[in-house]
Amino acid sequence: MSRNEKLDCLKKLQVILQKKFILEDKIKSIPANLKAEETLLASAREKYQNLSDFYESLQNEQKSLAIRYDDAFNKRSEYEKQMEFINTQREFEALTKQLEEARISEQSFLKLRDSKTNELERVRTELEAQKSELDTLEEKVREEKSKVDSEIAGITDEISTLDAECEAIKGDKISDDLYEKFSNIVKKKDGFGIVPVYGQVCTGCDLILPVQFVIDLELKSEKGEIEYCPYCSRIIYKETLDEDVERSYTFEQLESQKGEGKSVSQEESVSSESDNYDESMGMDEEFEDF
Ligand SMILES: [Zn+2]
Repeated sequence: MSRNEKLDCLKKLQVILQKKFILEDKIKSIPANLKAEETLLASAREKYQNLSDFYESLQNEQKSLAIRYDDAFNKRSEYEKQMEFINTQREFEALTKQLEEARISEQSFLKLRDSKTNELERVRTELEAQKSELDTLEEKVREEKSKVDSEIAGITDEISTLDAECEAIKGDKISDDLYEKFSNIVKKKDGFGIVPVYGQVCTGCDLILPVQFVIDLELKSEKGEIEYCPYCSRIIYKETLDEDVERSYTFEQLESQKGEGKSVSQEESVSSESDNYDESMGMDEEFEDF
């Protein structure tokens, strides 16, 4: 265990930050159900609107057919009344023809009107069913939304508590800059922002560090300085194990990397790995400030 207070602080912070980032991920995944239901609701709304427009146009058509039927009815009745007042055979024949045409027209509008009325009735039933489906979905989304909101509020509270815990541990031992940088590393490196070096091996990336680097690392740790793995950018500290264990640890890594044909420059070098040493971690700054 390192005697460096800063390192101990960071190790404690790491445990809390891990919990915090799990909660943050949870917040992101919660609204998934809600989004699916909102999509359903949107398409139900659209369907209802289209059906409603169609119903309205049918109503207009039905109204217009009803008026035309009434006209045809009145016309036929008029001709029938006129029948009582005709005097000549010629008048009788002409009126009979007009009356026959009026009857045909009346019948045809009656048929059209009734068929439109039936269609209107059918669409009205469909519209009502669609409305009730829409209401059900709206209610469901409302409920889901309030559930999601309260769930998120609960997790946000938990996160605030963890932030406060971090703040208490951090105190004035860790600068705001270092805390922010470390927090980013923990987030980006799957929860592990500070790892021990066994022998010459960084246990974060399993790569072998140069001998002199490890010697300097021990000195820096004693002086309370922070050092980063040049390959995976995690904060590292030397953890002294039994000498034989350390030697065999390094040897094993060396063998396994040879076996995999893996070398530092190909596998996890500073320039080739995309998530290494980015600006957000501020790795290009001087570390002595912390
Ligand atoms: Zn490393």
